[in-house]
Amino acid sequence: MPKIIHYRNKCIGCGICQQQQPVHWRMSKKDGKATLINAAGKKDVYVLTIHRQLQQASKEVAAACPVRVIKVTL
Ligand code: SF4
Repeated sequence: MPKIIHYRNKCIGCGICQQQQPVHWRMSKKDGKATLINAAGKKDVYVLTIHRQLQQASKEVAAACPVRVIKVTL
């Protein structure tokens, strides 16, 4: 199954991921950065396994992130 990986410490809080894919992203009211919903994380790297059907849309979100802190695995 594909995974979304979020390197959260370098997120600049632009909100693009949340706008494009609100099912997976929300903006934190605490620090203004994006949060990958239901992801498991440690040391500011968060990982979420996703359904294959969501892989392409997730890749587009990753490509739209201006600081490239989102990766999507095969
Ligand atoms: S698109 Fe990238 S920089 Fe912008 S909020 Fe999402 S993870 Fe952060």
